[in-house]
Amino acid sequence: MRETVRAKKHLGQHFLNDLTIAENIVEALNPALQFKKVLEIGPGMGVLTQFLLQKTDYETTIIDIDRESIAFLQKKFPSLENRIISGDFLKLNLEDLFNEQFAIIGNFPYNISSQILFKMLEHRDKVPVLVGMFQKEVAERIAAPPKNKTYGILSVFLQAFYTIEYLFTVHEDVFTPPPRVKSAVIRCTRNKTMELGCNEILFVKVVKAGFNQRRKTLRNSLKPYIHDKPEISSHPFFTKRAEELSVEDFVELTNLVEKKAL
Ligand code: SAH
Repeated sequence: MRETVRAKKHLGQHFLNDLTIAENIVEALNPALQFKKVLEIGPGMGVLTQFLLQKTDYETTIIDIDRESIAFLQKKFPSLENRIISGDFLKLNLEDLFNEQFAIIGNFPYNISSQILFKMLEHRDKVPVLVGMFQKEVAERIAAPPKNKTYGILSVFLQAFYTIEYLFTVHEDVFTPPPRVKSAVIRCTRNKTMELGCNEILFVKVVKAGFNQRRKTLRNSLKPYIHDKPEISSHPFFTKRAEELSVEDFVELTNLVEKKAL
């Protein structure tokens, strides 16, 4: 059996070698929550997997894109059997994988961390909780409240459906090879929102348009939506910038824009 997996930069491989941190990440998946299945994305050499497999409250399935990792993990954890998937998480059909709710965990490959979160959002009613390691900057952005300079598109979309907790910061020295940036672990727990209370497609457009020109007032960044509609542009939202609006404000703004756009 090979002793290690050769770290490949293009796959975002930085292997965590601090067992206490690994255990803390796994413990952050609160077993009191309603799930019996866990999906680990990017197990690498299995530093988190070994703790996940000690749990009896849930059953873990793992997916990694790296064949060398997969071969290593098959030998290291023979008990996983068919719960080890060789492939790209972004192409994985989550509806077919489990016919029940499941949690997501991982020390994620940083180059696809936003896409992992968008995919979770698409399947939000099946994913009650996600615990993940992100680039610190991304973690801060996701957890940022309104009126914060890192609050942005991903913060609004995620916070609409999940409660975000920034759990702890992780120093680059605990990885092999060390990444160039610090990391952080966050927990996203599904909130009670089933429907946003507005047209969701328009909500996405409005939030994106607002933040794409985040230094402008919403009157300017949303011009195409309020064009020729002076009656709505007098609303106080339009003198504000996107980062000043809460999720609820964006819902209200979307309704305002939609109603007047008819
Ligand atoms: N969890 C491990 C490894 C983290 S490195 C640890 O903490 O040590 C990120 C891992 O994600 C690597 O094993 C890499 O092969 C895997 N990976 C990268 N892109 C992926 C993708 N699209 N789908 C699944 N796994 C991916």
